[in-house]
Amino acid sequence: MLISCKVCDTGVLQPTKVHRCHGALVVLGWLLLVPSLVVLCGSIAGAGCAVVGGAGTARASVALEPSDLAVAALTSQGVPAEIVEKLRRGERVLELELEELTVEQRDAVRSQQNAMAIVRGAGALAGTSAVFFGGATFLCTGVSALFGAFAGWLFTLRRKVLRCLTCGALTPRS
Ligand SMILES: [Zn+2]
Repeated sequence: MLISCKVCDTGVLQPTKVHRCHGALVVLGWLLLVPSLVVLCGSIAGAGCAVVGGAGTARASVALEPSDLAVAALTSQGVPAEIVEKLRRGERVLELELEELTVEQRDAVRSQQNAMAIVRGAGALAGTSAVFFGGATFLCTGVSALFGAFAGWLFTLRRKVLRCLTCGALTPRS
């Protein structure tokens, strides 16, 4: 199907694609698009690492055991083995069990429990913060990269036209 040119009346129109924007904008578009896509991929990978790493920190801290030194100190104070074992497993020692101990032993068990709770809480907080701030940072970077990529893509868009082989006149094509 050949369409003759309305401008020169002799040329033949050929379907082709031209950039919607001028050359300089197309170059700018590619300069925006390519780095934005790289940053976007990086931020997705980074967000994944932050979540995995942060969750790992939180989990590792929860599994924290009393140090050998603390266990030895409790044992030397005559705290029953089953209570020391409970502390080692991170279980809560019941008030009923504490009542059978001397005041000194009770205090030793309580302070060990508190120390573990603080470390555990700090670890969980650190892990959660890492997930939150890491995720938020990478999300912001990712969103700006996404906008950059979109703007770049708009500049590089091409439209379908008919170009005259003789005079070069362009006619829009639906
Ligand atoms: Zn023509």
